[in-house]
Amino acid sequence: MYDVNSLRSDFPILERQVYGHPLVYLDNTATTQTPRCVVEAIENVYYNTKANVHRGVHTLSQEATDLQEATRERVREFINAKSTEEIIFTRGTTEAINLVASSYGDLLENGDEIILTVMEHHANIVPWQLLGRRKRIILRIVPINEKGELDMVAYRSLFNDRTKLVAVCHVSNVLGTVNPIKEMIAEAHSNGVPVLVDGAQAISHMKVDVQDLNADFYVFSSHKMYGPSGVGVLYGKKYLLEMMPPYQGGGEMIGQVSFDHTTFAALPFKFEAGTPDFVDIAAFHTAIDYMTSIGVERIAEHEHELLTYTTEKMMEIPGMRIFGTAPGKCAVISFLIGNEHHYDIGMLLDKLGVAVRTGHHCAQPLMSALGIEGTVRASFAMYNTKAEADAFIAALRRVSSMLG
Ligand code: PLP
Repeated sequence: MYDVNSLRSDFPILERQVYGHPLVYLDNTATTQTPRCVVEAIENVYYNTKANVHRGVHTLSQEATDLQEATRERVREFINAKSTEEIIFTRGTTEAINLVASSYGDLLENGDEIILTVMEHHANIVPWQLLGRRKRIILRIVPINEKGELDMVAYRSLFNDRTKLVAVCHVSNVLGTVNPIKEMIAEAHSNGVPVLVDGAQAISHMKVDVQDLNADFYVFSSHKMYGPSGVGVLYGKKYLLEMMPPYQGGGEMIGQVSFDHTTFAALPFKFEAGTPDFVDIAAFHTAIDYMTSIGVERIAEHEHELLTYTTEKMMEIPGMRIFGTAPGKCAVISFLIGNEHHYDIGMLLDKLGVAVRTGHHCAQPLMSALGIEGTVRASFAMYNTKAEADAFIAALRRVSSMLG
């Protein structure tokens, strides 16, 4: 049995009130809340083992290093990577993509092409455009159909002998669409092209096996996985990471330094310049343990029930327009009511205790493709309940009638 009420007691923030209403937190796509055990893991490092990692022979430094490296092994196991050499800690998904854009981008030449999709988050668009300031890189964009699914015929037609990378989200943060990543990777590989998968919205909603997917790069953020903020992961195939030059220079990423010549550390440290966020990395281990103790598939099933239930109820509201109706989508509902402004809907919902996201969701090219400026977005996580879905619907009805 999925005991959502007992699970909720692990998240103190869910007891909060907003404007005198019980908080209904439906902004999980932006960030998930953090269970007590993760906060305690952070506290434990600060109180008992805080020391810089990979730097000292003393006990605390050794213990802090062991905690960090244990998380690396936990992440490796969680996504079924071959080796911890392939797990690089970053500040988040954004930094992981910037790392690849800068470093893998160094290997590209003028006139090379990268395939993106119209549903990418700015984090998977702008780094490639910045690369385009150093080199003439052509971005090819895969369009979507009216359900919010990628046009796979168009995708296949975009490859040519200048294509050097595909960078695509596993799940859209606006539409909830789950892209056919395995098929897309197979297609890219048949053209000799590696694939970067932005897994920010997939990693806490489905089992991810990077070897089964055969992904070349896979990136995600801890704060969307019930973990601490400030930590992310770049998984990369070893042969690619070895070909790529370092991203940033500094401590920990070197072999030997002199003013004439510097050599670099072996993987994964070559890409981890400076002191990492070792406290949060240590606690990230606890977040993964917590999530897996409940079961990612069971969480997804629970979220899916809420998605189906809420979507049906929402459709009863006059003027409801839902963006993203792909079968098997994740529990993200982007919507508008008639021509009402998304900001007004979001603000009024907040006054009733319901936290949703409003705006372009860092996906302005997608908004342009949809012919809108923004949406309201409600998204579910492991701790949301049917009662909260009902509260959201009731608030939405009220907002809808207030706006006329
Ligand atoms: N990619 C997608 C699909 C996202 O939804 C997000 C954040 O919402 C990001 C990338 C950026 O993640 P972060 O801000 O944690 O680096």
